[in-house]
Amino acid sequence: MIKVGVLGAKGRMGSLVGQTVRAQADLDLAAEVDVGDSREALTGCDVVVDFTSPAAVMENLAWCVQAGLNVVIGTSGFDEARISEARALVDAAKDFSSVPPEQHVRVLVAPNFSVGAVLMMRFAEQAARFFDSAEVVELHHAAKVDAPSGTAARTAAMIASARAAAGLGHGPDATTTQLAGARGAVVDGVHVHSVRLAGLVAHQEVLLGGHGETLTIRHDSLDRASFMPGVLIAVRGIAALPPGLTVGLEGLLGLA
Ligand code: NAP
Repeated sequence: MIKVGVLGAKGRMGSLVGQTVRAQADLDLAAEVDVGDSREALTGCDVVVDFTSPAAVMENLAWCVQAGLNVVIGTSGFDEARISEARALVDAAKDFSSVPPEQHVRVLVAPNFSVGAVLMMRFAEQAARFFDSAEVVELHHAAKVDAPSGTAARTAAMIASARAAAGLGHGPDATTTQLAGARGAVVDGVHVHSVRLAGLVAHQEVLLGGHGETLTIRHDSLDRASFMPGVLIAVRGIAALPPGLTVGLEGLLGLA
């Protein structure tokens, strides 16, 4: 039995993780922690899943790695700076040379647990070098607090790095005047547009354009249940990851 703890257990994602874990024969929902609860309840868990908030997650991570607990993080807000901060925190918490490998702490940060979304990002990365232009449009429910989404930012970074490797610069854009924000945010040179609309869940389009053709790669999460298969893969697979910090579900899906 894998003992699973959940941080943010009363939230939309955390409560669904609890429900999903409870339904698995090989998993034991050992601790559910939310605001006001003691994190000590997580002691003894094989893996802790964090779906809290960008403001809370780093403190939770610090506590968990100090306690020697593996962590799967779904909480958003992990830009490059935060990833470096998290890596430093995880590496500093354990001297990897002095403990047996099975006791090394593993932390997996996944900007998106939906298998379809991970594939969408991968397809966008593969397609990026064949087109002059690439822009990202992400569309989410109106309660989302951060923009652009972690998935959109990561997609843009992946597209940018694929374009750079192929010797491509910025896409063509003749804009000389604009209202602030009209061309969206720019992540590594790739424009990212964020829509917040009641009724939506989580959606993204990657628009690629070239000579007389466009390619649109679209992914829709229609229900939060779409994230659960990826969360289960992470919970079951984290012990097999290399010690330290891993970003993205790709490795566990055989896509790395
Ligand atoms: P939510 O409904 O607001 O749930 C967050 C929960 O965490 C709330 O119950 C909150 O309590 C609690 N919390 C806040 N600080 C905490 C702390 N220090 N310790 C323990 N619990 C704490 O949000 P959500 O929709 O579930 O989303 C959670 C996060 O997951 C967001 O960052 C979201 O963007 C991200 N997300 C990621 C994926 C993915 O695939 N990676 C998918 C969906 C969502 P209060 O309400 O009292 O503050």
